Amino acid sequence: MTVDVEISGPSWDLQSEYNGCEDPQLRSDLQELETILTAVEALNANLSGPDAISAAQKIAIHAEHAGNLLGNVYTYTNCLLSVDSQNDAALKLDGSLQSYSKRFGDCFEPLAQFVDSASDEQIEQYLAHPQVQTQAFQVHHGRKRRHENLSLSQESLVNGLSQDGIHAWGQLYNQLSSSLSCAIQVGNETQTMGVAAANKLLMDVSEHQREAAWRGLTDAWQSQEQSCSAALNAIAGWRLEMCKQRSREKPVHFLDAPTHASRLTRQTLATLLDVSEENKTESQRATALMARAYGKEKFAPWDLVAPAPVLDASPTEPMAFDKAIKIIADAYGEVDGEMADFVHMMARNNWIEGSVGPRKRPGAYATTFPKSRAQRVYSTYTGGQLDIVTLAHELGHAFHSHVMRDLPDSQRSYGMSLAETASTFGEALVRDALLERSTSPQQKLNIIWEELRSHTGFMLNIPTRFEFEKGLYEARQERPQQPQEMKAMMRQAWQNWYGDVLAEPDEMFWASKLHFYISGLSFYNFPYLFGYLFSSGVYARRQISGPGFYDRYVALLCDTGRMTAEDIARQHLDADLEQPEFWQDTVDSFTPRIDAFEALLDELGVAAN
Ligand SMILES: [Zn+2]
Repeated sequence: MTVDVEISGPSWDLQSEYNGCEDPQLRSDLQELETILTAVEALNANLSGPDAISAAQKIAIHAEHAGNLLGNVYTYTNCLLSVDSQNDAALKLDGSLQSYSKRFGDCFEPLAQFVDSASDEQIEQYLAHPQVQTQAFQVHHGRKRRHENLSLSQESLVNGLSQDGIHAWGQLYNQLSSSLSCAIQVGNETQTMGVAAANKLLMDVSEHQREAAWRGLTDAWQSQEQSCSAALNAIAGWRLEMCKQRSREKPVHFLDAPTHASRLTRQTLATLLDVSEENKTESQRATALMARAYGKEKFAPWDLVAPAPVLDASPTEPMAFDKAIKIIADAYGEVDGEMADFVHMMARNNWIEGSVGPRKRPGAYATTFPKSRAQRVYSTYTGGQLDIVTLAHELGHAFHSHVMRDLPDSQRSYGMSLAETASTFGEALVRDALLERSTSPQQKLNIIWEELRSHTGFMLNIPTRFEFEKGLYEARQERPQQPQEMKAMMRQAWQNWYGDVLAEPDEMFWASKLHFYISGLSFYNFPYLFGYLFSSGVYARRQISGPGFYDRYVALLCDTGRMTAEDIARQHLDADLEQPEFWQDTVDSFTPRIDAFEALLDELGVAAN
């Protein structure tokens, strides 16, 4: 794909929020935040007295207000730094926000403990206040794990020790990955580079380069295998010990916390993985076709994030920003005119950042200002097809927040497993539209390649990670695992999910993957699989649900912050997530796309492998 530097998107307008870091409104918001925090610090003393309920209610109302003020300034600062990572005033503001955040956390911790440890009767009284009542789902959901609570003094001891315990082990990964150097063959010379630079080479179009990068990375991680296994043993060991300590009333399993955080049941998770496993040959077929596109018999670990191969040299014209917006709005509008209006409104207000600049941070995201509840989308737009799909994805996130704009604060945040519903949906709409208007096979190839790359990532790579992590916890219950044993578990997991389509397993993946070391959160993998299949399931239903679909879709999005995943599916999709049918229907909807890719390779004359 040719990228014309002439093409770029607009700069966004943030003035409706603040006009610079010295804006009097911004200063007065921080002033107000301070006043609230001081009031809460005084109220906290009453949480253990006879006025506990009314103190808790007052603090809860303060918490929402304070959260909005801090969130608003934080979002603004982050927006400024995204566009100019060296913005001096924003860097200073960002620094002072860190101490506000710390004080904010300390200030509202006693309320969290109160809500956790109060009796059912007290909670009923607490939720009776009309402004607090809106938090009912959050409060009740959080209290489902009450039986795990230790005494307050034990909890604070664990919390204190965890900084130099589990979190320090998690930190070790960051230190290793930022200081490790890899020796990698680039052209005719061996270059020494850091992990981030080497990871970038894994996305090179040349297979030779990707393989050299992967081998260099693997050797580098291999040299740290003892430290890596010590860290993973300590993290898993810590969590298993905590499960044991928390099992006084009933046994606590290591999957209880991550499924609870994703607001889904263990049964739903089990069903989801069973259906994925039963259908893995279809995703393996997609992987084999991707290997074929590169003229290879098998895929290799260094191909997993490879770009689409270039099979047709005819250049692709970059697309002007306005035209891209029109394509996205038209595609969104096929669901309902309101969705098209939303896209046009975002563009008209200049709420989309798409300029090209040397100090811009990489990546793309959507964000919402808590005070005005207005959205912004951040991206760097150069007119390529991937840029359009990225915009469609982020506008989906923004649409999700937009439809929730009138809900109470406590009902507008949703877990990771449902966070990608609207973004994946928007992306799918626009991908379909781009495929329809593609004039060359290469354009089509680029689009379906990306789609299959994420498909195989979700359906094979994520379960591989899950299987390894689960195996590690089970084995760690007996004793710490040696690096050799970690490698064997990792190999087994690759083999199970990829079968014969992978030329060799990435046996150091346990050491190199950040997600296994996140000390605040375990199993940072299955929510991706859930999110992918759930949102693809919603998209697949669009075709069969007819004219009432849009209203149901919006209602579903609105409930993502106040229901469990199972309840949402039951209410809005007539589906039972604990049973295989919904998941199987969704998986079946991928087959035509894999077939289309195969037909495209035939059309392009790529020999079968
Ligand atoms: Zn996203």
